[in-house]
Amino acid sequence: MAEKHGGLTILDNLAYACFLCNSNKGSDLASLSLTGELARFFNPRTDIWSQHFRIVGELIVPTTAIGEATERIFQFNTPERCEERWGLQVLNRFPTG
Ligand SMILES: [Zn+2]
Repeated sequence: MAEKHGGLTILDNLAYACFLCNSNKGSDLASLSLTGELARFFNPRTDIWSQHFRIVGELIVPTTAIGEATERIFQFNTPERCEERWGLQVLNRFPTG
């Protein structure tokens, strides 16, 4: 949670993220779901990844509104990111689902 939303500058408010995810998230906390309802983003500190996403080929496929909002705003499945993920899968450095 960004400081401007009341987040504290303490370790418990931080999460490891790659540059692209961090840049795409910015200070956002949520987005509108496909049905128009507010959906918060996946919280890596409190949520279980497999309850919101699954891997299909090189795609990260959301399975909940939280997963969908996160995948769309963080842009998990751009062609460049999928190509990188596929390369990591070939090297057994990323799960294949
Ligand atoms: Zn990332």
